[in-house]
Amino acid sequence: MHDDVDPNALPSGITALGDDTYAIDTRMAGYPGITSSYLIRTERPCVIEVGTAGSAPVLRDALHALGVGARDLATVVVTHIHLDHAGGVGDIAAMFPEAEIVVHERGARHLADPARLMRSARMVWGDKLDVLFGDLRPTDAVRIRSVADTGEVDLGGGRRLVSHYTPGHAKHHVGLVDSATGDLYVGDALGVYNHSTGDVRPATPPPDFDLDSALASLRLFGDIAPRRLMFSHFGAVETVGETLDNAQQELRLWVETVREARSDSPDLDHAVAMVRERVMSRYRPATGAASAESAEVMEVLSGAHSNVAGIAHWLDRVAADQGEAPSRPAERG
Ligand SMILES: [Zn+2]
Repeated sequence: MHDDVDPNALPSGITALGDDTYAIDTRMAGYPGITSSYLIRTERPCVIEVGTAGSAPVLRDALHALGVGARDLATVVVTHIHLDHAGGVGDIAAMFPEAEIVVHERGARHLADPARLMRSARMVWGDKLDVLFGDLRPTDAVRIRSVADTGEVDLGGGRRLVSHYTPGHAKHHVGLVDSATGDLYVGDALGVYNHSTGDVRPATPPPDFDLDSALASLRLFGDIAPRRLMFSHFGAVETVGETLDNAQQELRLWVETVREARSDSPDLDHAVAMVRERVMSRYRPATGAASAESAEVMEVLSGAHSNVAGIAHWLDRVAADQGEAPSRPAERG
């Protein structure tokens, strides 16, 4: 298993990142460049993120190509239980029967019994659910280990992956630092990184998005001072400080714009239009290899509608906590 893999001979979709670390494109819905898993191929091989149920065979084949057989995989960690990150957990657990599944404690029961999660996903996605995600299958609860504020995964040889609770995008979200490299697996805490433009766009979906938690999680990441940021969407980023700053500024800008739109009108479409005009128009158009289909799937997954709905939901929660009615159009005149 420790034979060196020739980086020039890797199957397409696998990128060697040094220090026994590999990025694996799990080809969400068949398209490249949307969801990335990572393999740390140490004595105790560990996969971070599995992608959707539809991605499980892609991930299995990639792991086999990297010399990780069915009984070799020691650990699977997911940053959170959204289906583009954890939808394949049940299938991967069945394909790799020795692997322990590590997840934040607020997500653990949904991996053991996904019925409720799948019902609410079906309500959000309707018919698109099958094409985009497939079915999250249950994982035997004895194979699931939950982590709280922090946790550890033993990678062997003294190397560890340390998890940090980082809510904001989701209330069951963790970031993970590799003790040997300083690589930080950020999940969706920063949003979505586009390599062709360098833009980072927030991911603020309902029902959990919380600006204050999201900003606190980014500050925690800054304190960790990682070597690289490993995005689930998509890939490794070396401009750490700049990208963390951008992510923070973008979050504030999206929230401010939605707040302002809702002082004119409670209509979500109005807020979406304003975000497109003021915020998204600043992003450079993607170029090169990024396929139009991949961009479309990414827009469905984490685009203006989902982000605005999540921000609006959070603003309503904040207003309710302050004992006010949800915001309504400002009185004029
Ligand atoms: Zn995601």
